[in-house]
Amino acid sequence: MQVVVERSLDNPQGLTYALEGDTGVGVGDRVIVPLGRGNTPAEGFVVAINVTPAIDPAKIKPIKSKVGVRLPPALIELSQWLSRYYCCPLGMALSTMLPAAVKRGTGTVMRTEIERVEPGERPSELKLTPSAARAWAAIETLPGELFPLPARRLADRIEERTVGPINRLVEAGLLREIRRQHIRAPWAEHAVEAPRGFTLTDDQASAVAGVVETLGTFRTHLLHGVTGSGKTEVYLRILDDVIARGEGAIVLVPEISLTPQTAGRFIGRFEEAGVAVLHSGLTASQRHQQWANVASGAARIVVGARSAVFAPFDGAGGGAVKLGLIVVDEEHDSAYKHSEAPRHHGRDVAIKRAQIEGCPVVLGSATPSLESQHNAISGRSTLHELPERVGGARLPRVEVVDLVEELRGADASARLTLLTPRLQGEIGRALDSGGQVMLLLNRRGYASYLSCADQRCGWILGCEHCDTTMVYHRARDIPVGGLLRCHHCLAEQRIAPVCPMCGSRITHFGAGTQRLEEELPRLFPRLILGQTMLRLDSDTMRRAHDYHEALSRFASGEVRLLLGTQMIAKGLDFPGVTLVGVVNADTAINMPDFRAAERTFQLVSQVAGRAGRARPIDGQRGARVLVQTFNPNEPAIVFAAQHDYKGFASQELRHRADAGLPPIGRLARIVVRDEQLPRANRLASEIVACIRAGADPALRLKGPMPCPISRIAGKHRVAVELLAPSAGPIQSALATLRDAKLVKSDAVTVVDVDPIDLL
Ligand SMILES: [Zn+2]
Ligand SMILES: [Zn+2]
Repeated sequence: MQVVVERSLDNPQGLTYALEGDTGVGVGDRVIVPLGRGNTPAEGFVVAINVTPAIDPAKIKPIKSKVGVRLPPALIELSQWLSRYYCCPLGMALSTMLPAAVKRGTGTVMRTEIERVEPGERPSELKLTPSAARAWAAIETLPGELFPLPARRLADRIEERTVGPINRLVEAGLLREIRRQHIRAPWAEHAVEAPRGFTLTDDQASAVAGVVETLGTFRTHLLHGVTGSGKTEVYLRILDDVIARGEGAIVLVPEISLTPQTAGRFIGRFEEAGVAVLHSGLTASQRHQQWANVASGAARIVVGARSAVFAPFDGAGGGAVKLGLIVVDEEHDSAYKHSEAPRHHGRDVAIKRAQIEGCPVVLGSATPSLESQHNAISGRSTLHELPERVGGARLPRVEVVDLVEELRGADASARLTLLTPRLQGEIGRALDSGGQVMLLLNRRGYASYLSCADQRCGWILGCEHCDTTMVYHRARDIPVGGLLRCHHCLAEQRIAPVCPMCGSRITHFGAGTQRLEEELPRLFPRLILGQTMLRLDSDTMRRAHDYHEALSRFASGEVRLLLGTQMIAKGLDFPGVTLVGVVNADTAINMPDFRAAERTFQLVSQVAGRAGRARPIDGQRGARVLVQTFNPNEPAIVFAAQHDYKGFASQELRHRADAGLPPIGRLARIVVRDEQLPRANRLASEIVACIRAGADPALRLKGPMPCPISRIAGKHRVAVELLAPSAGPIQSALATLRDAKLVKSDAVTVVDVDPIDLL
């Protein structure tokens, strides 16, 4: 028997262990094995049984015990792909698939329950008291699937006030007590009534039909629907068919859009089929319970964030049902990329899993990633389009405000304001007419950096441990000044009163959400922070609960203005929003990353899509969107303002093709991290030399070169990039490096295949 242990030993074949006696251990079982000389107990997964051992049989140790959790064969196969493709140890890939709460068995309790004794095993002579006889008569009429159940529930069911008659039936041998394992987890999600039966638009209906046609086979579908076009209803209708086939489904959503309303809509529609919800707001035992419900077949639909792609559906039987569909909603969202090893992308794992399971996968977005768009154009996936909003609502008018033009001739104080007179005017009008406002500023804190007011000095406050500037945060508990925080290593320090180099005054640049929060009530006294105005960013929204509460206060109309980072751009639907303002569309444009234009386009389009979700009332102005920018001719902004996804995508894909960049070409990135720069450079050079020897001629190498952020938390960062027209040459180069033990998924070398962050 071969067991792969979860510790990061890079050994895809696993270690050989012996099976003693008939323990019922099979492939996928989680077991504990003795490891090394000291026989340290280690958790692992069985990946093969009945193999001829390659080592002396006398030296094979037996396994210690079975844990009682089994991964279905499809997930074992998926883990092997994850390990190969993303270049990480198989044990790590396997371990990623199980939530920690399942591994630990959090919330597991033993409970005594009652079942009926089979007729053949019942005693021939019965002496029952009248009350027991009456209870038995009632129990005999109950449907079989109700059992086993706790005695108290059974008593309620037959309308007995006490469990006395049931105890007597147990003594008489008609009922039997059994011990069953349960996961104790008070369940918190509520169903939201999901209206059924309304007519789909022609576009929605044809998308549903197009996907349903492929149920039972592997096929990738791209559902490109503008904001407000009713993508969720398309998913729900397809799920009807999946459930009717007796199969199950996984619906992935970015963590942040997994609001109670989202989950509730699925629960409301599919209560009978069972819906499991997996997100970070659950307690450990709730997560364990939800996972177990899928494994037992009690839940056939899983709605969850990235890791729900590993839900234990099982085509090979067991308790679970066969997986019949995977939906990846908001597939362009960068939250699908895992930032730690294995650095997988939830969307790409979903496609691979659908292929292994033989089912279709639907990727939905208003702004598809260029990866998905490229696949649709080249015929690798089927494109379905929803070009119009449902219910007669129209896409909002987007106006681009040129900050250079707008601030020309303005005095110095006006130059420092975040809100131009144009945007101020629109905010005032929207508030006066009873509308709601959303303001996007994708920059946290008060100011992005501090520098010396004397330009001849040029001092800028940088982080001691990183090659970045410190961000200035105002803190309520610090009376004067504020706090400087590094967004990369999280180091903090108090603000200095004067320039340490020349003693001049210090000024700040690059205003963030905290500055905006301060400026707004000065301009609009009716905006009171915490009452009629809320700020949403990762500094104020520490827990999922804070976020959900803020959104429901905005939905109720109590909060009139919501300001925040990209958090507010994500799939939210508030019919009262009549104005969306993008305070500075340029925050992403100048990033040293080839996806900067794509990110800017997505951000502006997505946040603009929050406006005008309801049909405009006759005679009223429609909803509008104002985008402030110093780059009004930047194609990403111009196309977003015109709601022209296709125009943007075709131009951007041409640029990428010219440069051989993804999605036309493929990219992997290796980052070497070390406190000693020469040591980092040396290892990076060895990596390059190793790849060069015997590399595929199609492979292009860049580096070694310093990363755009050349030092984080005291470690120098040196990058090597691998580019090729297809994944093959990159995969074989990575395999070579792995064999040579030059890259390990450890603290020193980071391997990122299909990276989305190049900083
Ligand atoms: Zn730092
Ligand atoms: Zn100075």
